[in-house]
Amino acid sequence: MQTSICFFNTLTRKKEAFSPLEPGNVKMYTCGPTVYDYAHIGNFRAFLFEDLLKRWLLYRGFKVTHVMNLTDVDDRTIKGSQKQQVPLKQFTDFYAKAFFEDIKVLNIQSADIYPRATAHIPEMVALIKTLMAKGYAYQGEDGSIYYAISKFPDYGKLSKIKIAKLKPGARVSQDEYAKEEAQDFALWKAWVPEDGDVYWETELGKGRPGWHIECSAMSMKYLGETFDIHCGGVDNIFPHHENEIAQSEAATGKRFVDYWMHNEHLLVEGKKMAKRFGNFFTVRDLLAKGYDPIAIRYLLLSTHYRQQFNFTFEGLESAKGAVERLRNFVRRLHEVDGGKDSEGKVATLTAKLEACFGGSMDMDLDIGTALASLFDFVREINNLLDTNMVSKQEAADVGGLMMRLDEVLGVIGRVEVEEALPADIDSLVQKREAARKAKNWEEADAIRAQLKQMGIVLEDTSQGVRWHKEKA
Ligand code: AMP
Ligand code: ZN
Repeated sequence: MQTSICFFNTLTRKKEAFSPLEPGNVKMYTCGPTVYDYAHIGNFRAFLFEDLLKRWLLYRGFKVTHVMNLTDVDDRTIKGSQKQQVPLKQFTDFYAKAFFEDIKVLNIQSADIYPRATAHIPEMVALIKTLMAKGYAYQGEDGSIYYAISKFPDYGKLSKIKIAKLKPGARVSQDEYAKEEAQDFALWKAWVPEDGDVYWETELGKGRPGWHIECSAMSMKYLGETFDIHCGGVDNIFPHHENEIAQSEAATGKRFVDYWMHNEHLLVEGKKMAKRFGNFFTVRDLLAKGYDPIAIRYLLLSTHYRQQFNFTFEGLESAKGAVERLRNFVRRLHEVDGGKDSEGKVATLTAKLEACFGGSMDMDLDIGTALASLFDFVREINNLLDTNMVSKQEAADVGGLMMRLDEVLGVIGRVEVEEALPADIDSLVQKREAARKAKNWEEADAIRAQLKQMGIVLEDTSQGVRWHKEKA
């Protein structure tokens, strides 16, 4: 398949032409949620970037095999389940279910497989045994098994750390640590009393896997030893993805991943949105405040994935406005009946939009430019509609293009088309029109508010008043 897609590859820090190992088929792995709490919208920025990436590849005609893991055993899940005094499985099942509910309301397309770490312990044990046999792993005096980073000359190639400066033999057993603390890391953690009843009796002894080995084992099981795309937030570059490379490449002797893609963080007042800072919102928090989940989706998608940005409620309001503009436009297209032909203007604008939108998205998912071209298009077609210069066929063509682009954006969905107004509502609309003509604004506004309560939203356009049902 011939496309001109370019992606920024964290490994090379360059934009590279994208071509999958198997023509036409893309294999991608995205680090999924740690199911120890409700995911916050910072996490969903990562999952929405991955959704956009996948939808773009599908739009360009690729088949995509997408694997997203669930981290259901690690330091955080164990701590969380103990705090709530419930078994680990019951604890993580609860948050996994919440995660699936949230991705549904955000209109995130499902991955093909959602492997859970706890269901892949034998694969992890086998991988660790291979690493031990090849001399990359050793057992510490605490019984845990560590990866010897000094044995892997490429260690640091993703995060660009200089291994020569590290203390030889120093070890770290927790899953998360800073670049400055790069050391031999735990592949298998020998059981300690703080782990309670979370352990597996295996050939490596009684214990549990480290976080990093989980993703190496699950990605290679479902996608093969070398696959195309691996994603996550920038905080995953080190240590998680650096360690995944070290584990997988040492075990197989092959390149692990061709394109590493990382999204920047969602911030709040300049600081990363994170559980530990307490500056987060969950999707549920925002739904409880009455926001449309699709506005959240639009907000998180509409900034380029490699750019940081601050979450604000003003931003969310303007995202809501942008989604409404697109939906109103599609609604208006449905209503075109018997306009004049635009004499080729619509076809020219349509071709221009397809080229601009496509060219921008091909260039490392430049969503900002893609959306700007979309809104220019909406404005120009609206101008033609205002002068009745769009035929029914042209409106259908534009509507078709909007639906195709919405396969990528996922924000318009099915719009309600106007039907005949029930008589009581119709008489209220007429009454309001009469009040407006008489410049009795107070009465006109009161009727508008009354209609809103009935779920009917009015729009005053140059073509007269239009209405639609409010989305639930
Ligand atoms: P976790 O559940 O903590 O493993 O995180 C799931 C995903 O969310 C990972 O890819 C993280 O890199 C990403 N992530 C965490 N916080 C943020 C944030 N504030 N902005 C964007 N992505 C984030
Ligand atoms: Zn991972």
